[in-house]
Amino acid sequence: MDIKFIPADDVKKVLHYNDLIPEMESALKKFSSKDVEQPVRSIVSVKEANGFLGVMPAYSSSSNALGVKLVTFYPQNKDVPTHNAIITLFNSQNGIPEVIMDGEVITTMRTAAVSAVATKYLAAPDSQILAVLGAGVQARSHIQALSSVLSFKKIHIWSRTKKNAEVLAREVGGTAFDDAQEAVKDADVIVTVTSAVSPVLMKDWVKTGAHINAVGACRPDWQEIDPDLMRSSVLYVDSQKAALMESGDVILSKAEIFAELGEMLLGEKEAMKQKTTLFKSLGLAIEDVMSAKLVQRLLKPQG
Ligand code: NDP
Repeated sequence: MDIKFIPADDVKKVLHYNDLIPEMESALKKFSSKDVEQPVRSIVSVKEANGFLGVMPAYSSSSNALGVKLVTFYPQNKDVPTHNAIITLFNSQNGIPEVIMDGEVITTMRTAAVSAVATKYLAAPDSQILAVLGAGVQARSHIQALSSVLSFKKIHIWSRTKKNAEVLAREVGGTAFDDAQEAVKDADVIVTVTSAVSPVLMKDWVKTGAHINAVGACRPDWQEIDPDLMRSSVLYVDSQKAALMESGDVILSKAEIFAELGEMLLGEKEAMKQKTTLFKSLGLAIEDVMSAKLVQRLLKPQG
């Protein structure tokens, strides 16, 4: 068997948000129209290292896309990334493995691209202030992806370690804040991208009508968002089934899910732009598999 490996640098070279955001819009629609077969991810805990290994398979019949992402999450890593992944694509007709590629760049970019889709449909079109809680990998990708769907005048950043917020603020021409409450004051769009296990964003801090992308807290007993804010916002998720099994923010608050993003994109559920909306992101295997297929297509003409 001769399987090609595509390294991170090659993925980075060809993957851009102007292609990826519409591709993720399509993946979300396919997921919610039941075109996709995908179990909720399996997680193995590596207790000694406070780490996790996730196994994420998916198949879309209309895209002939069959693949699996293997992803580790070691929140305490310091000098290496906290998320590491590989994605394998198989030929859906005969099951032969076609390619293995780096999955770190895809995880970073597809998550932000999906939040960009949510933001495009759920945030006010004249949004001026973007606030980001967290200053790691996802903070950077989210600022880039969201700035491609809305023109923000100001970017406010808070992180647990102030120095990290300052470094990122310099990179993106934003402002670093000591205090999360001050950072989100008057924000039209808020992104939470931390590895926190208890809430970092409180209901009373959030302007009515704001849109929130809640991206961290992917375990059933972890929270990033105040339960009152979960209950009072119009709640969108990527997968209803996964949200009820994996998201501590959803499970512990008992917040009612209004719609999957895909249902909203298909026109089956409304985009409640005027209300305070919250997209709880957990990440779908089909996002990874369709991103990997896109990379494979984009690389083909270059051999
Ligand atoms: P990074 O490790 O690059 O950044 C983590 C950030 O979280 C840093 O800003 C760090 O602050 C902050 N942080 C860590 N622990 C805490 C804490 N206890 N309280 C408050 N802040 C904390 O991670 P990523 O940017 O890659 O990921 C961010 C989050 O997004 C994670 O929860 C991750 O699991 C999630 N994620 C979700 C995906 C999805 O599809 N929904 C996909 C990929 C990631 P500092 O370093 O300044 O101290």
